[in-house]
Amino acid sequence: MSSDALSNLMSENRRFEPPAEFAAAANAQADLYDHAAKDRLAFWAEQADALSWEQKWDTVLDWSGAPVAKWFVGGKLNVAYNCVDRHVEAGHGSQVAFHWEGEPGDTRTITYSDLQREVSKAANALIALGVKTGDRVCIYMPMIPETVVAMLACARIGAPHSVVFGGFSADALASRVQDADARVIITADGGYRRGAPAVLKPAVDEAVAKCPDVRNVLVVRRTGQDVAWTEGRDVWWHDVVDSASDQHTPEAFDSEHPLYLLYTSGTTGKPKGILHTTGGYLTQCAYTHKYVFDIKPESDVYWCTADVGWVTGHSYIVYGPLANRATSVMYEGTPDTPHQGRWWEVAEKYGVTILYTAPTAIRTFMKWGDDIPAKFDLSKIRLLGSVGENINPEAWIWYRRVIGGDKAPIVDTWWQTETGAIMISPLPGVTATKPGSAMRPLPGIGADVVDDNAKPVPNGHGGYMVLTEPWPSMLRGIWGDPERFKETYWSRFEGLYFAGDGAKKDDDGDVWLLGRVDDVMNVSGHRISTTEVESALVSHEKVAEAAVVGATDATTGQGIVAFVILRSSAGDGGADVVAELRAHVAKEIGPIAKPRQIMVVPELPKTRSGKIMRRLLRDVAENRDIGDVTTLADSSVMNLISEKLPSAASED
Ligand code: ATP
Ligand code: MG
Repeated sequence: MSSDALSNLMSENRRFEPPAEFAAAANAQADLYDHAAKDRLAFWAEQADALSWEQKWDTVLDWSGAPVAKWFVGGKLNVAYNCVDRHVEAGHGSQVAFHWEGEPGDTRTITYSDLQREVSKAANALIALGVKTGDRVCIYMPMIPETVVAMLACARIGAPHSVVFGGFSADALASRVQDADARVIITADGGYRRGAPAVLKPAVDEAVAKCPDVRNVLVVRRTGQDVAWTEGRDVWWHDVVDSASDQHTPEAFDSEHPLYLLYTSGTTGKPKGILHTTGGYLTQCAYTHKYVFDIKPESDVYWCTADVGWVTGHSYIVYGPLANRATSVMYEGTPDTPHQGRWWEVAEKYGVTILYTAPTAIRTFMKWGDDIPAKFDLSKIRLLGSVGENINPEAWIWYRRVIGGDKAPIVDTWWQTETGAIMISPLPGVTATKPGSAMRPLPGIGADVVDDNAKPVPNGHGGYMVLTEPWPSMLRGIWGDPERFKETYWSRFEGLYFAGDGAKKDDDGDVWLLGRVDDVMNVSGHRISTTEVESALVSHEKVAEAAVVGATDATTGQGIVAFVILRSSAGDGGADVVAELRAHVAKEIGPIAKPRQIMVVPELPKTRSGKIMRRLLRDVAENRDIGDVTTLADSSVMNLISEKLPSAASED
């Protein structure tokens, strides 16, 4: 029996070298690792130098207040200036910043000059509404250009934003507005989702009823729906922003000035208000975006499909790409409106070269079938990225083959709301990737996998993912709760940041993320990760998605219970599908990992950011009442799954 904190069950022998031309022209070459290792802080100072500072810093890192770091101490800069104005000043005003595509098919083209005018106007309008440096502004918006403008306008005047995902309920919005003590909310009448206008303003009205300190609600007209109006409090964006001056001189703020707070997705429990600051955050966003996505501002069309309400949208739709003067695609709606090929149609139309998305989307496309993307010309795609969850090796292979034309490198990027930017990822022109592995910490990043005693595990073993050195874009705390900050991340291992994720190092020392440590299953004394069993299931040709959990078992301590979604091409899977899948897992990773039960389900419970919520499945598997579902995207899913239960008897 293994005494590892986490067993290492799977091995993967496939390797994918970057194409030669890609490697030759890549922004990041192999020497970047050595260069960073030689003098880590000097390396980060070099990255910070790529930004425009009004006043240069005195000290790169001050870690004396650990676990709260200060980066580029004494430096001053303006984030909006760095993301917009400096590009215009350098003569790139006519370059497109965003090709925006609305769900109904309306489009807008926004250049860097447009962005400069709009952000300046919005900054002036916010000032006229009494917003001052340091005030929090809540942004509750659909995926429209004004959302980006609103964020940059806040950054420009030093008013930290708190973006709340537009799919959240009035209650979720109210608690976040209260937690941040925001006095102004920026919203829209609604946005287009699934072929119809979805409303936002009524949720704001309901939330504000519980937030008496909210002074103003600034409303963008997007859908033209009728909205209730509170005179004196509500103001139209087209009234106050459009009429404001398009001249605004940005003020430089301290490197540690708060840039935003953002609540985590709530996969494991109550969301935490994560605080990010200015200089270090922007430095690491720009650095990672440049090297991980190999961005070439002259020729690339980059598309990050995340919602701007998540950290991925903050760092890789707004701050990183704009700091690097990228041309991006931004899409308002859902992937299957009006048809399941919509994303590929958009990618073809704008000539997307770099696509960054999440495994949940990839597995959905896999379920829908190869013939849908095959109808579109995706030949310009040269690089693919993944974030948010583990990408199962088969989903990785599918992504590369069907979307990446069997040639585009894939960067599987591990990071969190808390880390602010990518931490572990291949370098696309350097790394020979392995499907399912995030590979190595980026140059400048200190990360390791440790055992219960905080000792790095040897290659071939599993344990806990930790960060060993402070990094520029690290969170500076949980808003209003310094104790929870220390307790959650810094109390488990002395001096190390504990990420909450399990991981292993393979025989080459490459890192594989293995899911949340809270989800680890203990079967007959073996500590088995959910990820490895899920990946074994997804490697079967009939399976599109899988989620496994450990359920109390009289003989083995815990038994593995699997929930699977079949691919469209598999029909209902046939009479023996359960037996077939159990045998498949036993063959792929051994009898110990064979699920006790397998349930074929139509859907899985996911957070609004698309991550599987295993704790709810554990409730089902252990016949308990379903726990807190407030962060669940679609609560009817749990009924669909519970109905399946009686037929889920164990085979032996
Ligand atoms: P909460 O902390 O409230 O439970 P959350 O952890 O889902 O919410 P995020 O910060 O959006 O909120 O997600 C970060 C987590 O997502 C990571 O800790 C990890 O579990 C998972 N993750 C992100 N990228 C990857 C990746 N490339 N591979 C594996 N897991 C990933
Ligand atoms: Mg988390």
